[in-house]
Amino acid sequence: MKDAVRRAAALAIEHLESVERQPVRPKRDADSLRAALLLAPPARGCDVDELADRLASVMAATPVTISRRFFNQLFGGADPGAILGEMVVPVLNNSLYTFKVAGPHVLVEEALIRHMLPFAGFEGGDGAFTPGGSLSNFVAMLVARNEALPGTRERGLDGRVGVIYSSAEAHYSVRKAAGMLGMGRQNVRGVPVDARGGMRPDALAEAIRADRAEGRVPVMINATAGTTVRGAVDPIDAIADVAAAEGVWLHVDGAWGGSIVLSERHRGLLRGLHRADSFTWDAHKMMGVPLTCSVALFRKPDILRAHLSEVATYLFQADGDRLNPGTRSLQCGRRNDALKLWCGWQLHGDAGYARRIDALLDLARYAAEAVDADPELVLAEAPQTANVCFEVPGRSSAAICERLYDEGLAMVGTGEVCGRNTIRLVCVNPDQTTEDIDALLAAVKAVAASLPAEDDAA
Ligand SMILES: *Cc1c(COP(=O)(O)O)cnc(C)c1O
Repeated sequence: MKDAVRRAAALAIEHLESVERQPVRPKRDADSLRAALLLAPPARGCDVDELADRLASVMAATPVTISRRFFNQLFGGADPGAILGEMVVPVLNNSLYTFKVAGPHVLVEEALIRHMLPFAGFEGGDGAFTPGGSLSNFVAMLVARNEALPGTRERGLDGRVGVIYSSAEAHYSVRKAAGMLGMGRQNVRGVPVDARGGMRPDALAEAIRADRAEGRVPVMINATAGTTVRGAVDPIDAIADVAAAEGVWLHVDGAWGGSIVLSERHRGLLRGLHRADSFTWDAHKMMGVPLTCSVALFRKPDILRAHLSEVATYLFQADGDRLNPGTRSLQCGRRNDALKLWCGWQLHGDAGYARRIDALLDLARYAAEAVDADPELVLAEAPQTANVCFEVPGRSSAAICERLYDEGLAMVGTGEVCGRNTIRLVCVNPDQTTEDIDALLAAVKAVAASLPAEDDAA
């Protein structure tokens, strides 16, 4: 066993070293990987030496998301504190449903949630770790649905139609959750956005009035703090006015931008958050914790147990509900996602995370200015958070991104802004510097020059 752990550590170190030598691996297609890697589980097992070799060959073909040339998603980089914590989780192997089997890890979660709540302005509220922002949004919508349509938890939906209001640029998990909760994807309104991608409070109020006039029940307003493509922040305070006037649950999806509450300089972007009822906050995005690590926070104390608890005499036998998080979680057996965040927070402290957020947003501003100053590039809009969307006029953004990956120069993706398909550069790795931005923009231009011109590249 100890040999296996030592080998895992050695492979992890080799991976880190290979990142320095070789920034982003060129794309490998699935068929060539299937042919090259021995993927089918064998009838007879191998020894640890052989296993480590097979694992190394899979790792060698793995896209390098911790590279400084990776701008493709809303996560990136490698955080030493969080990785230290994560690496001991499987040998501890606690399930976070009871104090009996998880012991201090229940208290680690409790301490983190208690520490995170005031950043949202939810002092003394409730919260839970979930396997990602999609599930944090799901649990918030579940609670909102049960509160707006009483009796649903026990008897199911009874013909009343509940409606969710989300901006046209909100994350797809909102629509998915409506489908999963039996509310119907068609009952999610895509409220129009303003020129900066923020939900329009006037259009929201109008949509709510129209639904009420037809007998439908407004269940939840979902404001987004950091939209997935543009990084736009909905005007939470103005939306909270509508929510208060209409008596509708207000959820803030901060899966991407929620961590900005850690920064004194920038938390004003989420002004009005304390008036919300629930808040999704992914630690595996801007805080750099390895996937997955997300929390759903609630303003009202002890609200989750009312909507999620079940009796299980074989499981919940001692210590009381408060110390048994299984009585208020989506899952039964549940992996420890809190320890890595706790370790990260020990290493960085509130101050270190604030500096991290400031640095990411500063880097995005630098990138936007560099794009704007470059006659060969067109900036789609000034960044509101850490997303920078731009184009090379006359060239396909998708083709540029594909070529960058094919050649192993960078990983970056596209996103639509005001009907144009742009290159979406995400600043989420604090190891990246202005030099990395300069290198990416130079690579984009070089690749674009080698591609055929298009009339209207969008
Ligand atoms: C990433 C994201 C989600 C989904 O979060 P996961 O952790 O990937 O499930 C939800 N909403 C927004 C705004 C996001 O950016």
